[in-house]
Amino acid sequence: MTAFRAAFDFLGVACRGLGLLSGLACAGPALAWSNHGMATSLALADVPELRAAAPVAVETIERFVQDQAVALAQLLAKEEAWARATVPTYPARPEALAFRAGPAPVDAAELRRRFIAAVRINPESRLALYSQRLAGQDDAGRAPLNWSKVTTLRGDGTQISTRFVALTEGERISPLEVLVSAADEPDYGLDLGLWADSAGPASAAYAMGNQPFGNPALEYSGQAPMHMGFFHEAAIIYSAAGFLKRTYPEYRLHLWQALARHAFKTGHPYWGWRFAGWALHYVQDLTQPYHARVLPGVGAARMLWINALDMAGMHGAKNDAVTLVSNRHTALENYQYWVMRRAMERGDAAHPVLAALRERSHDPSPPWRDDTLRAVVTEESQASANGLDTVLAGAMPARYVSDPGYTVGVTEPRLDLAEVVARGPADARARLDASLAALLARCGAHSRMFVLDLIATSR
Ligand SMILES: [Zn+2]
Repeated sequence: MTAFRAAFDFLGVACRGLGLLSGLACAGPALAWSNHGMATSLALADVPELRAAAPVAVETIERFVQDQAVALAQLLAKEEAWARATVPTYPARPEALAFRAGPAPVDAAELRRRFIAAVRINPESRLALYSQRLAGQDDAGRAPLNWSKVTTLRGDGTQISTRFVALTEGERISPLEVLVSAADEPDYGLDLGLWADSAGPASAAYAMGNQPFGNPALEYSGQAPMHMGFFHEAAIIYSAAGFLKRTYPEYRLHLWQALARHAFKTGHPYWGWRFAGWALHYVQDLTQPYHARVLPGVGAARMLWINALDMAGMHGAKNDAVTLVSNRHTALENYQYWVMRRAMERGDAAHPVLAALRERSHDPSPPWRDDTLRAVVTEESQASANGLDTVLAGAMPARYVSDPGYTVGVTEPRLDLAEVVARGPADARARLDASLAALLARCGAHSRMFVLDLIATSR
């Protein structure tokens, strides 16, 4: 259906990071990429199991895959069977991509290539040994690493503004630092170039089908279906726009979780934490209401009506709805980014938004189940979507949230909405901070639950 597809084209184009945290990148090139890193560092800072965990030796992906080649063939076959049986609309991986350890000898570069193909990530993924620095952190005496060694994304201010340093094989690093660095990595190109119409080196081989939504001609849009989960729309919306069922964060999360467990159990803790950070990315992305609902604040009947008008040639209502939802999504993340970054730079740990990420009193109990992302995380985030949308519209000047003639992050690339909101009424700001804190509290709680479950099941 044209309207819905167009809506997603817009979201796919506008939102590069696509996360409560990483989605800040939607707000324009001035923003950093360290959003999952910031949230992860706060959410996990006080977890005793992590604080007690010994530093781990940094290891290349080649060494991990070479050492575990035979076991990985079995593990990845099991994962494929799980995804086929469990993930609705899952595009089966062709047998030709199944990971093979032999026949010997197979060199490390070839094993790496086979691994990348078997898990269907971007063949150009860097998988470098790096640490991502956070606001207020120095480089810890390590050599700076150019962003192009970490991400496949082509240069712009967003990437350049995040600092990376190089790690060397064998050096020891804390598990939290690995998690913090890896939590943003799925936004560094791993999930790009996967679709049949992506025009990348893997697009034909991966058999993922055409990109369900988003514009394949644009670099960032391809990852949207992997980082969003539209599991709770009205049935009539799915009948009108079946492609909305093709979102796959569950596939990714389960795969990285299984690899993390395997790495822990076989003496490769660096890759255990790194895969765990990748998995965590999807958990955190799906706590963002604008990633779990197609059009927050717009009911199913209105969506269908807008679509009908569009199909009849009257595109104004559709265009307006698309611009507004994208603006609100982006405005929320712009605001959150600047609030968090400033508070972290000041060392203001008591700031309500930072405190919410660390607050453990409402943590759910493990276990993390295979359906937790669908049944709990996205259920909560979609349930809060309409309320959040209303608060946001009331807290910011109309041009940012209610004016379809303005595009957040494009009209003013260097926009800082924390500064804008601070100049407005104090009660509106307080309501927005309370909503944001509630979202981030869930982000923190689910992050801890996922990691604690992983630790418990990896012994
Ligand atoms: Zn993401």
